[in-house]
Amino acid sequence: MDRLRVATVWLGGCSGCHMSLLDVDEWLFDLAEAVDVVYSPLLDVKAFPEDVDVTLVEGAVANEDNLELVRQVRRNSRILVAFGDCAVSGNVTAMRNPVAPPEEILHRLYVEAVDLQGQPPRERGVLPSLLGRARPVHEVVAVDAFVQGCPPSAPEIRAAIERLVEAARSGGASSLPDPLPPPPACGEGEGASETEGRG
Ligand code: SF4
Repeated sequence: MDRLRVATVWLGGCSGCHMSLLDVDEWLFDLAEAVDVVYSPLLDVKAFPEDVDVTLVEGAVANEDNLELVRQVRRNSRILVAFGDCAVSGNVTAMRNPVAPPEEILHRLYVEAVDLQGQPPRERGVLPSLLGRARPVHEVVAVDAFVQGCPPSAPEIRAAIERLVEAARSGGASSLPDPLPPPPACGEGEGASETEGRG
């Protein structure tokens, strides 16, 4: 049987979900016998590859780089999983949404709140622009499964991956049950009118 190609992606999150993934400890050796990890912040791989079977996406879609990457992830992944509460609902990353537009927040933090030479952190080509709202993944692209928790516990992650690997082996997203309706996005909600479907 072919080995499955698995990826993990880190968008607007704290990396706690990835840390919890590592907490499955020695089960990682069992997993390594069944899958190849082809992209992850834990690896030094620069470009998201094609033909990925299962991708876990941590974090909300918070800036232009997140937006571009998650669209590519969707095009290149058979099964896309919103991994952890920031990806599922926006969670901590979306707490800025009801406060003020990003430019106002950046001005307050990096200009008004500093004593010397305050300036907003923006350098073209280096720092991606923040989106007007940090958005849960399902508001931007179609999601096949949701793993909730902040972070999800290691046993929950292990159970989810085992089920996803089984689903990928037996035909991909179409063999998964319909995903549970996602919880409402944190902060004020606007609809998912721009959600992109599977590639
Ligand atoms: S869900 Fe919690 S642990 Fe995961 S990225 Fe968000 S804040 Fe961090």
